[in-house]
This record gives sequence, C-alpha cells and structure tokens, in this order.
Amino acid sequence: MQDCVFCKIVENMIPSNKVYEDDTVVAFRDINPMAPVHIIVIPKEHITGANDICPANSGVVAHIFEVIPKIAAAEGVAESGYRIISNCGKDAGQTVSHLHFHILGGTQLPLSLA
Ligand code: AMP
Ligand code: ZN
Repeated sequence: MQDCVFCKIVENMIPSNKVYEDDTVVAFRDINPMAPVHIIVIPKEHITGANDICPANSGVVAHIFEVIPKIAAAEGVAESGYRIISNCGKDAGQTVSHLHFHILGGTQLPLSLA
C-alpha cells in the first residue's frame, strides 16, 4: 500500500524504533506514547483493520498474539500487566488503516473503556 505509513515502516522507507521483527510481524515503539510502554504490533501484510480479518489472513493475527507476550516480557511488563488494544474504524479513533495492536503498560492504566 503506497500511502500506508505502517507499510512504509515494514519496508524501512521511514524510520521507526523496532523492538521485534520476524517474517510476518513487526513491532515498534509508538511515536506518541500514551504509557511508559507503548508498542505497536502489526502484520507485515497490509490488512486494513479488524473488519478485514478472514480465514486467509487470520494466521498472522494468531501469530501476533503469540508474539505479544514475548514483547511484554522483553519490556518488563509481563508480570505487572498490560493492555492490548486494536481500534477499528472512525468511532474507535483508528488513525492508521493498517491492522495494529497497541501494547500499553508500565503504569496503572485507566479503567474507563478498558
Ligand atoms: P490508532 O489511533 O489506533 O490508529 O493508532 C495509531 C498509532 O500509531 C498512534 O498511537 C500513533 O501515535 C502511532 N503512529 C503513527 N505514525 C507512527 C510512526 N511513524 N511511528 C510510530 N508510531 C506511529
Ligand atoms: Zn499498510
């Protein structure tokens, strides 16, 4: 996707602070962190959002959920706890139309809308 900022991160066309990468997944620090630990985890494949998860691509979503605990452990929040968020669409405030999962932690997170 030419105009997708996260595809550009996958392709190293724009800089990012990557904390994890394998054949199908990349994770990097959010440019505008909302918590001491704020990591974005994405499939390398462009999937627009949760509405577009289907049998043909759900394997990478499962893989993301295997990777997330490893990142949480590396970031030191596996035991203290963390929140996984995926915003889908306008009312959720999705600003980047490439499926992504926020990992938030390192502090007591607000319980509203959790
Ligand atoms: P969302 O609002 O769920 O679509 O989340 C998009 C997130 O991507 C926001 O938290 C942004 O701060 C983050 N973001 C946008 N551009 C970049 C970038 N170039 N590098 C790292 N994080 C980014
Ligand atoms: Zn993309």
